[in-house]
Amino acid sequence: MKESRKLIELIEALTILPGIGKKSAQRMAYQLIRSDKKMVLNLSKKLEDITTQISNCKICGIYLDLNDVLEQTNDECLSCVRENRDKSKICVTESPSDVYVINNSTDYNGYYFVLEGNLSPIDGRGPREIGIEKLEKRLKSNCVSELILATNTTVEGEATAHYIHQMAINLNIKISRIAFGIPLNGELGYLDSETISHAFNERKTI
Ligand SMILES: [Zn+2]
Repeated sequence: MKESRKLIELIEALTILPGIGKKSAQRMAYQLIRSDKKMVLNLSKKLEDITTQISNCKICGIYLDLNDVLEQTNDECLSCVRENRDKSKICVTESPSDVYVINNSTDYNGYYFVLEGNLSPIDGRGPREIGIEKLEKRLKSNCVSELILATNTTVEGEATAHYIHQMAINLNIKISRIAFGIPLNGELGYLDSETISHAFNERKTI
């Protein structure tokens, strides 16, 4: 029995999504075929739009709609251009979504720098691929005196933090890493030993 070639191609295309293996992709593909055609075409249009209608702020790296960029200058977002941010601080994240989270949850008023992911040589992502060279250039050319690392606590995020840490030391820039450990309102008994060990070792005087 011959399976639809188009369906197989869709399943293969869906596996590029993070955390989606062949089985999940297959389920999604069958669901899409059964869905309302208008909704599927709308989804397809949205996917096309992100390849043609979205750009990055060249200072912080957050995503911008191309239409908004055209109204602004030099591909820079309003937050970088108009808000009176502290140029001496740069907070490094792995993703633009992390910038929104930090910005909405803290009173941090420095600049941001979004990497294009994290270091993972096994997947072909070295310093150049994730924009570390660009970060280094910025650290050298601007009057940055403090770098705050807000990469994830995954193995790749830690490797990325370690690499940037060395770079900042070589450039004589003060470097800090956001704290991680016990969540607010969290109970110790529910946490894994690695988290507790980290939180314990990173304790601070109160
Ligand atoms: Zn920006």
